[in-house]
Amino acid sequence: MTCALWQVASLSGGWMSVDGGTLFGIVPKMIWGKLVRADRRNRVRIPCRCLLARRGKETVLIDTGYGGKEGKARRGMALEAGNPILDSLARLGVLPQDVTHVVMTHLHFDHAGGATRPDEKGNIVPAFPRALYWASGAEWHDAIRPIPALRRAYPQENLLPLAERNLTRSFEDGDEILPGISVRITGGHTRGHATVQIRTRKGPVLFIGELVPTHWHARELWTSAFDLFPLESRVRKPKIFARVLEEKMPIYWSHDPDAAASCAAGRKGNDLITEKIL
Ligand SMILES: [Zn+2]
Repeated sequence: MTCALWQVASLSGGWMSVDGGTLFGIVPKMIWGKLVRADRRNRVRIPCRCLLARRGKETVLIDTGYGGKEGKARRGMALEAGNPILDSLARLGVLPQDVTHVVMTHLHFDHAGGATRPDEKGNIVPAFPRALYWASGAEWHDAIRPIPALRRAYPQENLLPLAERNLTRSFEDGDEILPGISVRITGGHTRGHATVQIRTRKGPVLFIGELVPTHWHARELWTSAFDLFPLESRVRKPKIFARVLEEKMPIYWSHDPDAAASCAAGRKGNDLITEKIL
């Protein structure tokens, strides 16, 4: 029998500045402004956190941050220079060729941008040459040759170099990608958005993706304006929170500036009360 327990580590795929109003959606600044500081341009500095899961010869990267390609966003959103995810992996002694699987919650630039990188000649190539790149079937469908209204959400240079080399793989709701790593399609943020659950020695953990980008969004009504289907997020979150409480699962955040991970301390109505653990 194979041992299906993974070791996980949170790592940065780069920090960025996003408009506070967009991040907190319908929540008035009078309320969110008491919890988090915005800069002079009303931007909030948030990380793009990723998760590394390792077991034996398998090295799985969950989300990739925004990567190192040039573009307008680098200045507008004050992205870090260089290639944050490759730097973070290097600090843990992980080389790009060590990564065997890349699992993406969804394919927006701040989650999939690091999946490809410019080579010495400036061509965009897969950042992890030995890996297969996973996202939900619905997400690949909407991201590659998207309907015009979604085109800006999915820069093709992040994705086509993977598709052209036949490195993309699709999962469906409930699939186990590897023993102990399973996915649930949640919708809400995008049609094909997924969360990733990983079995570790200390029990299961949940990478919740952008359905709940920060611990502040663990309130039912707090959805960001980046969500394409906010009502779906609102309906879905309490169901996930019930599972988090029942299975005592730590939550790993995508965009929380204060915590890489939190545990559930209880519930207040449909809101989840969280406590920072990392
Ligand atoms: Zn994001």
